[in-house]
Amino acid sequence: DPKPAVVTRFAPSPTGSLHIGGARTALFNYLYAKGRNGKFLVRVEDTDRERSTDEAVKAIFDGLSWLELFADEEPVFQYSRADRHREVVNELLERGGAYRDFTSAEETGRLRDLAKAERRTFESPWRDRAPTVDDLDQPHVVRFRRPLPGNVTVEDEVQGTVSWANDDLDDLVLLRSDGAPTYNLAVVVDDHDMGVTHVIRGDDHLNNAARQSLIYDALGWTRPSFAHIPLIHGPDGAKLSKRHGAQAVHEYAEMGYLPEAMRNYLARLGWAHGDDELFNDAQALEWFDLAGVGKAPARLDFDKLAHVNA
Ligand code: GLU
Repeated sequence: DPKPAVVTRFAPSPTGSLHIGGARTALFNYLYAKGRNGKFLVRVEDTDRERSTDEAVKAIFDGLSWLELFADEEPVFQYSRADRHREVVNELLERGGAYRDFTSAEETGRLRDLAKAERRTFESPWRDRAPTVDDLDQPHVVRFRRPLPGNVTVEDEVQGTVSWANDDLDDLVLLRSDGAPTYNLAVVVDDHDMGVTHVIRGDDHLNNAARQSLIYDALGWTRPSFAHIPLIHGPDGAKLSKRHGAQAVHEYAEMGYLPEAMRNYLARLGWAHGDDELFNDAQALEWFDLAGVGKAPARLDFDKLAHVNA
């Protein structure tokens, strides 16, 4: 098989049921890939062992099945890949793109406060200090060594060109002192290994795109394309909350909404195709593109949903 030109993924953290925002992210990834003969993958980001639950994994899979957003491959469970994540951290250590930080948590907190008071970015004293053999037995974290000075620029397909001064991002922790990989590292390694070409997700992750881009560069890996979509707000423009009504996809299923109606409705939350109000699945696949995704938060409109369902 030739490699598909487009591979997207939906990467939920299993800490609750599938919400409307997550469902829309999944749908956008699905439409983008499937409309281009690509692949749509699912990755369960269960690295946070305390907050991840089996019920949430099931609820998310149930929600995706109800919406008929089926993945092209078995889902990947991020936690099962921790050894691979640690292997990549070792590679970064060897390349000088990461360093071991033996500062205690308490001392790190103190240095952080000091940096904040002096309005500068926190730096670990171990950034430029070589550990001795004896040090290596001591508890430590591994930090990314961001290139200084410099800038990182992300060409985002929704947000446009966005730049950060590397100095403003701190040297993020890649491995915790218990050896657990952190979110940004795991996402980069998994997206790379899964062959993901387009990362489409909520714009609350835009800053992570800068950090992740620096990690891709340090490893000599090609970055994916990024598209950060604005979050969904309530009809009053405020952040979505319980008082705006149903949040979880299963609640809509229970109220009798049809999956087709829900897909149609979700597709138009933040994406427009001319004046077309209703479209079928084939049209959604044919028409969906990132150019039609707006920069302003989408607003929920329950009358529209009822209309689409009728
Ligand atoms: N697991 C993250 C979340 O649920 C998404 C990570 C990503 O899409 O890169 O917010």
